[in-house]
This record gives sequence, structure tokens and C-alpha cells, in this order.
Amino acid sequence: MELYGTQTVNGQGHLMIGGVDSVDLAHIYGTPVVVYDTALIRERAAGFQAAFRKMGVQAQVAYASKAFSSVAIYQLAAEEGLSLDVVSGGELFTAVQADFPRERIHFHGNNKSYMELNFAFDEKIGCIVADNFLELGMISEIAQSRKQTMKILLRVTPGIEAHTHEFITTGQEDSKFGFDLKNGQADEAFRRAADMPYVEVLGLHCHIGSQIFETEAFTHAAHSLMEKMKAWRDEHGFVCSVLNLGGGFGIRYTDEDRPLEPMQYAEEMAEVVSGLSEEWGYPMPEIWIEPGRSLVGDAGTTLYTAGSEKQVPGIRTYIAVDGGMSDNIRPALYDAKYTAAAAQQMHSPHDTRVTIAGKCCESGDKLITDATLPRLQEGDLLAVFCTGAYTYSMAGNYNRLPRPAVVFAEEGHHQLVIRRETYEDLTRLDLPLQQKVRKGQ
Ligand code: PLP
Repeated sequence: MELYGTQTVNGQGHLMIGGVDSVDLAHIYGTPVVVYDTALIRERAAGFQAAFRKMGVQAQVAYASKAFSSVAIYQLAAEEGLSLDVVSGGELFTAVQADFPRERIHFHGNNKSYMELNFAFDEKIGCIVADNFLELGMISEIAQSRKQTMKILLRVTPGIEAHTHEFITTGQEDSKFGFDLKNGQADEAFRRAADMPYVEVLGLHCHIGSQIFETEAFTHAAHSLMEKMKAWRDEHGFVCSVLNLGGGFGIRYTDEDRPLEPMQYAEEMAEVVSGLSEEWGYPMPEIWIEPGRSLVGDAGTTLYTAGSEKQVPGIRTYIAVDGGMSDNIRPALYDAKYTAAAAQQMHSPHDTRVTIAGKCCESGDKLITDATLPRLQEGDLLAVFCTGAYTYSMAGNYNRLPRPAVVFAEEGHHQLVIRRETYEDLTRLDLPLQQKVRKGQ
């Protein structure tokens, strides 16, 4: 079994994460618990940054924090010199709580409210990624009324859809995000934004998909956006200083996934952009990217405790764990695949086929169909790998299950960064039925 990052197996056959015994972590913090190998997050952040440095390209690597948002991860991102992509007032508030450097915050979203935009102005964040005409008008109105300049990127849909191992070029991009690059929307957005006092257009942004395992989709997108930038330079004399190519770099959930090194993406992006810049005499823009999953995904491992077993003779054996779709909705939502191991019995043969079920009242609440594990008994510890992205951040309280604890582990130290929800937390927003609406009043 191929482990991740700093993971090892100790002499007792226990899974170690960040130099800490996972069995100890389960005892200390309970289960389910999401354990982050923070050294791996740092390594990934440094990898992307070093790759662009090596190519001699000015770049910003922004952590797409929808993947996992918390005060501690934002502080870690700041320590590593990352920028931060937030998509809501809530994520921005978390960044403020973490005292994240405001000038490195980029604000995304396809339906930002006045309140959220005003919050961004209050905090003087680095830039807003403008998504639509309504938002452009709102930004302009706020900027003028405050006489405060806001930098923006225009989010465009280049008509490239990339997913896992394939990408397709679609004539008409069917997406709720951004200005269409080909049908004139992006040009109109540029014309409007360029005329807005107190609005400074930095450049273009696109995000073409997720779990992308080849570089061609990115270079294709870079080419399309550069063409548009050149057209605006030629027609309006306007030069973009930033080209943001979004996130979507693939990670290894299962052995079928073969991720590329950050260097490969950076190299090819930089080559295409600098090649076109040279050819067209266009000043080399800064390249910005927004990895989410590839910074935190495989750094996360969820530890669960095994509970009930159900055998369906001739079909399958279910082992239920003390979490499920409430802490990881991805298998139920988009049939996401994971691998798992018996964290206390890493040396035992993992050769029994079982299906890991959650404890939610949904038949579809299965974390892994046909996992291969030792024969698990009630109370055994199960590690599900690669759960660092879009799990806790998508977690809910279905069936009023408390959300799990989140722990960082590094160099033999561990720290709670989000405490486990209590039953009191679950009812803290509830208000009792008032007398006047009680039955019969
Ligand atoms: N940037 C934007 C605009 C996104 O929508 C997303 C994900 O949805 C990301 C970056 C991060 O993508 P990933 O986590 O796949 O790197």
C-alpha cells in the first residue's frame, strides 16, 4: 500500500501521521477525526512556488480555501507565503480571524452580495474576481461611493471543460460562472470595467475543472486567454498584468490516479505564456494559480471506528463506521473513490473485501464500495486516506451528527484546530416553539 506524505507504519503496525501514532490520536481526540499531515501541505505549497521561481516567472499561488477552510489552515497558508482564494463572506471572515494578509486575498463567487462586497472593501483585500455584469455594477457603485480603488480580475469561461484525464473544447460554455470568452460577453465586461472610476482591471481568470492530470488543458486555456489579452491590447492599448489559470491539479485518491508534479504544470504554463508574450511583444503577465485539492487533499486522513457488520450472503459485507456522508459527502455526491487501511493493523494482509458504510439514514451513505481490509472487528480503527479536500468544508449535520474534530500533526506534535461539535452545538441556534403558535392557543 502506497502511503502519503510523512505517513509510516511503526513497529506495532500502527499508522503514523506527522510522526504521531494514529491510535494515540484516536484515543486523545475521539473518532471520527480528520488528521492533517501539515508537512505535506507545506511541501506542496513550496513545490508550486519553487516551480514558478525556477521558471523565472512572477507568480502567486493562492490556496483555494473552499477545499478546507479554518483559521489554522489560513495561518499555515500565510506562513507558507501563499495567497488565499475565498468565495464567501464566511470564508473572508475566517481569513480576517486568521489575520491573513489582506493584500493576498482574492474574492471569488458568482453571486456576491452587497454585504460581502462591502466587507471586501472594508478589509482592502487584494482583488475581487468579478464574475458577472451585476457584480461589476455593484463593485463600481461601492468603489465610487467610497472613493476607494478595487483591483479586479475578470473571470471568463474559455470554452474548455477539463475533467480528470480528458478535456474537451466546447463551442458554447455551459457554466454559471464568468463571462463567456467567445460570444462577446468578456469584451463587453472589459469595456464596462475599463471605464469605471476606482476600478483597476488586473487581468483575466479562468478555472477549467478539477482532478486534471495533464497539462494540455491548462496550456490550451492559457492560449485562449492570452489571445483575448492581445486583442484588447491591440484594440484598446490595454495590457493585463495578471493571468490567473485557476486550480484543478489532480491528486492520487486511488492507484488509478497518476498526478503530475507541480513543476510539470508550472513549466508548461510558463512556457506557453512566455512564448506568446515574446511572439506578440506582450509584457509577460504574472501567472496566478489557485490549487485547493492539490495542497490539502492527500494531506488529510479521516480516522473512524468500526461498528456494526452486516453480511449479505453471496453479495457483500458491510462494515459501518461512526461517521459517513455527514463528514464526507463526496462518495454519495459524485461517486468519489477512496482507499482505506486498518490503522492498528497495517502489517496484517488487507485482503478481505468489504463495503464501508456510514451511519446516516441513507442507503447511499457508503464511503467505500469494495475496500480491501483485514477482517475488522467492532472498535477497530479505520483510516480513510486523501480526505483533506472538500470533506470537512462540505460537512453537515444530517441526522444531527456532530461534525468531527480536525487535528494537525507535524514532527511528532499534534494540535486540535477544530474541536468536535457537541450536542449543545447542534441545538445552539434552535429556538423553542413559542406559546402563541403552540397547538390550541
Ligand atoms: N479556483 C476556482 C475558481 C474553483 O472553483 C476551484 C474549485 O472549485 C478551485 C480554484 C480549486 O480547485 P481544486 O481544488 O480542484 O484545485
